[in-house]
Amino acid sequence: MTAEESAALGRIRRERRWLILWPVSAAPALWFAWRIAHRELAIAVVALIWIGGIAIAIARLMFIRCPRCGRLFHSADGAPSLAKLFAPRCGQCGLRLKPERVIYPSLE
Ligand SMILES: [Zn+2]
Repeated sequence: MTAEESAALGRIRRERRWLILWPVSAAPALWFAWRIAHRELAIAVVALIWIGGIAIAIARLMFIRCPRCGRLFHSADGAPSLAKLFAPRCGQCGLRLKPERVIYPSLE
C-alpha cells in the first residue's frame, strides 16, 4: 500500500466519522439554539443547517473514490449507493478500509 492510498483511506475513515458524529450533534445544537434565542425560528434555522450538513456528509461519502481503482468506494456496480456507506472494503476492487486488519499484507 502506498502512502497516497493510506492517506486516502484515512480521509474515507474521517468522512465516515463525520457522518456518525453529525446526527449526535443534532440534540445539543437544537438545545443550544433554543437556549440562546428562545424562538421556534432559531430551532428551524439550526435544523435546516443540520439537515443540509448531513446531506452534504452523505453525498461526500457516496461519491468518494477508491485510491486504488479510482471508482466509487461504496458501490458494487459503479452507481452511487446509500446501502454500502459503511462497507469495510471497496465494492469494486476489495481494498480494505483498515489495512491493519490484513494479516499478510504481501498477499493483499
Ligand atoms: Zn477500489
